[in-house]
Amino acid sequence: MIQVIGIPYDQNSSFLRGPALAPARIRLMDAGGSSNAFSENGSEIMHGKTYWDRGDLPLHDQAPGLAYQTIKDAITAALQVGQPVLSLGGDHSISFPIMAAFAGKYRDLNILHLDAHADLYENFLDNPYSHASPFARIMENHLAQSLTQVGIRTLNPHQKSQSDKYGINRVEMKQFQFDFLQSLRAPLYISVDLDVLDPACAPGVSHHEPGGLTTRELIHIIQHIRVPIVGADIVEYNPARDVNDMTAMVAYKLFKELVAAMMG
Ligand code: MN
Ligand code: MN
Repeated sequence: MIQVIGIPYDQNSSFLRGPALAPARIRLMDAGGSSNAFSENGSEIMHGKTYWDRGDLPLHDQAPGLAYQTIKDAITAALQVGQPVLSLGGDHSISFPIMAAFAGKYRDLNILHLDAHADLYENFLDNPYSHASPFARIMENHLAQSLTQVGIRTLNPHQKSQSDKYGINRVEMKQFQFDFLQSLRAPLYISVDLDVLDPACAPGVSHHEPGGLTTRELIHIIQHIRVPIVGADIVEYNPARDVNDMTAMVAYKLFKELVAAMMG
């Protein structure tokens, strides 16, 4: 059974708050009755059946350094149970402590990161935990054997040089194809920033970046991964920017497809 953990934290967001409200809103889509609980491969994605919802971490207004430790400790404890862990964020800063926990268990972790942004700033507004920097922290600390970033469409010279320095496998949106799927290796972790989607598909994010993936293309990626998935997160959903819960339902759909893919 997949373990699900809500991480309601957005204090490392540089532009707008709101993602702390995301886990509760995504769960409402399950409870709301407007959609059924089946993934497209016919699995019933249900608490107590295919996943176990461990609830939300009690982060409240913890400062970034303390929140880092709380998240890392909670994910470390969950990984000791032995089942894959899917986290519902929260802004993207939560992926750094999550990866720190995963690296403690998997020395040869490979990450698939789907995002409009590379999140590779060496220093963003003097906050090392900024949601603009998690993948810089992950690579500096050697937490992954490989990092594949897909959907990127905002590289500036600094982030390009960071990307080159860390040997990141880039699949930028301007040259997007599905070929990268063949090169993914196990054990695989998937981090989904919802702004990888075109704003037309997912308006409920803090940073609208036009020219992204369609929801269908993202589902295609999740459904065509052929290596074991040991963990995943869905981050940067911002209910304060959403329209009629449209993006909440996108997040819930991706949640169901990810749980199904993680079940193997
Ligand atoms: Mn991001
Ligand atoms: Mn992003």
